[in-house]
Amino acid sequence: MTPPIVIIGAGQTGGWAARTLRQSGYEGRLLLIGDEPHPPYERPPLSKGLLTGSVTPEQTYLFEGADWDALDVAFARGVRAVRINRQDRTIHLSDGDQVQFQKLLMATGSRPRAIRVPGGNLPGVYYLRTLSDSLTLSAQMRSQGRLLIVGAGWIGLEVAAAARKLGQEVIVVEAGTQICSRAIDRVLSSYLASVHRSHGVDLRFGTSVLSFRGAGRIEAAQLTDGTEVEIIGAVVGIGAVPNSELAAEAGLAIENGIKVDEFGQTSDPDIYAAGDVASYPDSILGRRVRLESWENAQNHGIHTAKSMLGRTDGPYAQVPWFWSDQYDLNIQLVGLPSEWDRTVVRGTQESDSFCICYMKDGLLQAAAGVNRAREIRILRRLILTRRAVDPDLLTNDAVRLDSLLQANR
Ligand code: FAD
Repeated sequence: MTPPIVIIGAGQTGGWAARTLRQSGYEGRLLLIGDEPHPPYERPPLSKGLLTGSVTPEQTYLFEGADWDALDVAFARGVRAVRINRQDRTIHLSDGDQVQFQKLLMATGSRPRAIRVPGGNLPGVYYLRTLSDSLTLSAQMRSQGRLLIVGAGWIGLEVAAAARKLGQEVIVVEAGTQICSRAIDRVLSSYLASVHRSHGVDLRFGTSVLSFRGAGRIEAAQLTDGTEVEIIGAVVGIGAVPNSELAAEAGLAIENGIKVDEFGQTSDPDIYAAGDVASYPDSILGRRVRLESWENAQNHGIHTAKSMLGRTDGPYAQVPWFWSDQYDLNIQLVGLPSEWDRTVVRGTQESDSFCICYMKDGLLQAAAGVNRAREIRILRRLILTRRAVDPDLLTNDAVRLDSLLQANR
């Protein structure tokens, strides 16, 4: 019997890949291996509606019952792949089983970077990656007291917003001098900082944790600004690391995650990787990237699954898109604003409705928008045109952005 196509990692990438394999006509055996106790689900609500209670766990699931059944996938649930033997094409599982594969997709995602300080393992020090993490934290956020958030990145800030909504006292410490320093500029950073402060968050830049203290459970944190704060819990959001060890041990090429080509293929022609765990060469961005975003998890999973069947639409490339919801703000980013020589602002911070356009050599490189979802969609298309845009038109809120798109045809 022909061995199955195997997917390791039952997250968003793995789930979409399974669906795509079936939708693309693959009728052979399909095995999904996932170490969590849940079917594939989407993570964005975990730091938003699931914390506040407006979303249920079931609403995060990628597939409704009938859709899931239609996939006809064997699901090794709560089972971990512990070793890949590339010689005999087998995967060793944590329950002692071994499975063979004809082709393998590694969709193992990423995990939170751990904090290494005394007391870092005390109960009450939380990370937020899984549904179970979110439910535990949500329960904690119902108690009275002060929550410390370590890291002013997207997850930390979304948790801060949710905690304030639930009436908790919140301190956010950030070792750097601004919010999300790798992803946004100082203007957006100081705007977001003032929003959080206006909602009562005690936000401290240039500050980190020296140690956590508590008798059996976290009670206080000693900070580098010389203060000690009493807390009922700490949420650590200091970045993520790709789950690429399994691939590395199997001898696959690694470069900031599992190294794949523009079709998702690793250094082994029968093994593919996609989503958070994979770095790929993006022809639009002109460099190798590893993206941690909802859209990339879905699109890279779909694209790579097609490649596995030899049915690709062409190399994988995209203008990255990411969003975050905090209080009544919807923040969206397109492109990667890593280099620019000019920023152009459209709209006003006072109205909580604006876009910041990042330009280099007259070309639009990236954009960030607050409550401007429609314009961000158009700016994304403008980035793709790779033609010079007149900054005066871009900044003029009376000029419709889609007219710039037409002028750019
Ligand atoms: P994952 O979702 O990490 O799934 C990988 C799965 O593989 C996991 O279940 C993991 O446990 C499992 N696994 C790993 N190793 C093994 C193994 N050896 N054997 C078996 N199973 C294994 N993106 C946005 O664009 N907007 C947002 O608002 C947003 N919010 C987010 C909020 C949170 C709290 C988090 C954590 C992420 C958020 N993201 C957001 C990012 C987005 O959710 C991720 O980029 C996406 O989930 C990546 O999907 P993935 O399938 O590649 O990896």
